[in-house]
Amino acid sequence: MAKKYEGCAVGIDLGTTYSCVAVWLDEHNRVEIIHNDQGNKTTPSFVAFTDDQRLVGDAAKNQAPTNPENTVFDAKRLIGRKFGDSVVQNDMMLWPFKVICGVNDKPMISVKCKGQEKHLCAEEISSMVLTKMRKTAEEFLELPVKNAVVTVPAYFNDAQRKATIDAGVIAGLNIMRIINEPTAAAIERNIFIFDLGGGTFDVSLLTIKDKVFQVKAIAGNTHLGGEDFDNRMVNYFAREFKKKNKVDISENSRALRRLKTACERAKRILSFAVITTIEIDSLFQGFDLFSSITRAKFEEINMDLFTECLETVKSCFADVEMDKSAIHDVVLVGGSSRIPKVQQLLQEFFAGKHLCNSINPDEAVAYGAAVQAALLSEDFKNVPNLVVQDVAPLSLGIEVIGDIMGVVIARNTSIPIKKTKGYSTASDNLTSVLIKVYEGERARASDNNLLGSFCLSVPSAPRGHPFEVCFTINENGILIVSANEKSTGSTNEITVTNDKERLSSQEIIKMIKEAENYRVEDEKFLRKANVMNALDYCVYKMKNALKKKDVNINLSSQENDKINSAITKATSLLDSTQQSEIDVLENHLKELESLLKLIIGKSV
Ligand code: AMP
Repeated sequence: MAKKYEGCAVGIDLGTTYSCVAVWLDEHNRVEIIHNDQGNKTTPSFVAFTDDQRLVGDAAKNQAPTNPENTVFDAKRLIGRKFGDSVVQNDMMLWPFKVICGVNDKPMISVKCKGQEKHLCAEEISSMVLTKMRKTAEEFLELPVKNAVVTVPAYFNDAQRKATIDAGVIAGLNIMRIINEPTAAAIERNIFIFDLGGGTFDVSLLTIKDKVFQVKAIAGNTHLGGEDFDNRMVNYFAREFKKKNKVDISENSRALRRLKTACERAKRILSFAVITTIEIDSLFQGFDLFSSITRAKFEEINMDLFTECLETVKSCFADVEMDKSAIHDVVLVGGSSRIPKVQQLLQEFFAGKHLCNSINPDEAVAYGAAVQAALLSEDFKNVPNLVVQDVAPLSLGIEVIGDIMGVVIARNTSIPIKKTKGYSTASDNLTSVLIKVYEGERARASDNNLLGSFCLSVPSAPRGHPFEVCFTINENGILIVSANEKSTGSTNEITVTNDKERLSSQEIIKMIKEAENYRVEDEKFLRKANVMNALDYCVYKMKNALKKKDVNINLSSQENDKINSAITKATSLLDSTQQSEIDVLENHLKELESLLKLIIGKSV
């Protein structure tokens, strides 16, 4: 492999049962799914320990039946989890290998290696699989591989993502980015399938997205294929035989059958040789057939059929009004697609595109990771910008006074992202504020998913003392929420790990639907919560204004009475367990605000 791939990054799909590695080949303008030493494009995510060695991949899986206790798989199901986690407890019952509880409730896999008991964590097992994938890529590229993009399931929480990065570090890899498997596989690929068999010819245009194939167009000819090419050759030799021997074999079925068999063989040979011979003893009336045919001749006598194939290809594109340049992969199927002229015509039509022999949806994830890796490498010119950018699937925010979800990062915001918002304390003389981090679409914080909470120390001060909260989601989808108070320099933060998992994609869909269903109700709640907060704050400000010792307030006794009864009414509205009508609250707020103005206006 050329030096130009030095320092290039690979994409690795680290799967639960199989892993796959791919690389972007810039000079060929395509992704290569890399074969392992067994010639397979996927490698079992298996690690086995025997009396004298450690095996990874196919070798480990192959010996599993004879060494089940020391053959480890499914490490991905353990990664970033606690031993007490119910998923771990349930899985353990099904695994033939032993899992024990390590320090800090970390699950450890217990195996016997070279006669000794060894305890390994899931990261170490995954790192062995990653090392195998790295070596597979290194053998192909003939260069050391340092950088990789690794895919993880979208539902992986931060602990699981971090543990995956750790596995990469142990494997000597710099994990440039962790991307979600669906995001990687969601790279939309347009695939053109050219299937030329023995008797039929089919072409189809497919789109693959999220590992799902969708047929866009099909075309073909039910009577065109290898047999037709054989028949052309039979006719060619029959004519030659007639010319030479003055006998016509066309009426003799046995002779024709023998000739056809020989022609079919010759045709196959011409797919890799440029000339071949045909030798049939006593083909007809005692005459032998000893002749030869060149690839050029074979192409000449079939050229109209080959051209017909290409016309069908063109018609397929015309049907869907798609330009051929939109095709990412051209896949050849059927024995007759091995004919060099057919391949040449196709390659010319697709402007030199590489033709592949198979396409496997299992490889789609590694494919996407490889494209992402190449984009991050920045050295390549030709990488298609296909990677769908990740987004925050749900809004993220903190609880603000009145159980309101204070959104900091809105749903569908592209990540990575960093956003800071200012808040203030909710009552006097607080020494710390509890910051509760939620994800979800509901207006009420407690209707959302609580991700975690932490305290920020604040100086004892009147209500409304400012502090800042900053949400950062890095390129690997890890969320860090930090808060700081400027006057004291106090800071605190959490990385949303927790054993508590983030919502799964189903739960996310459910949450979004729920939010939609409760939209009217939520809007009402929000309006009311906001007016209650405003009312509360207004009362607070009025009381403070009245309390100020060094200020004289020239209020008449009527005004004083009015103010006092308005405050009493507000307090009872706020305290009342029975639900006050929003209109009542809003009207009273207006009254309080005008009274507050009056107090301030009469203060000297
Ligand atoms: P299939 O229906 O896909 O099995 O394809 C069978 C047809 O492919 C037969 O007509 C074979 O003669 C033809 N075929 C198989 N191998 C080759 C080859 N190497 N070159 C040309 N034609 C081939």
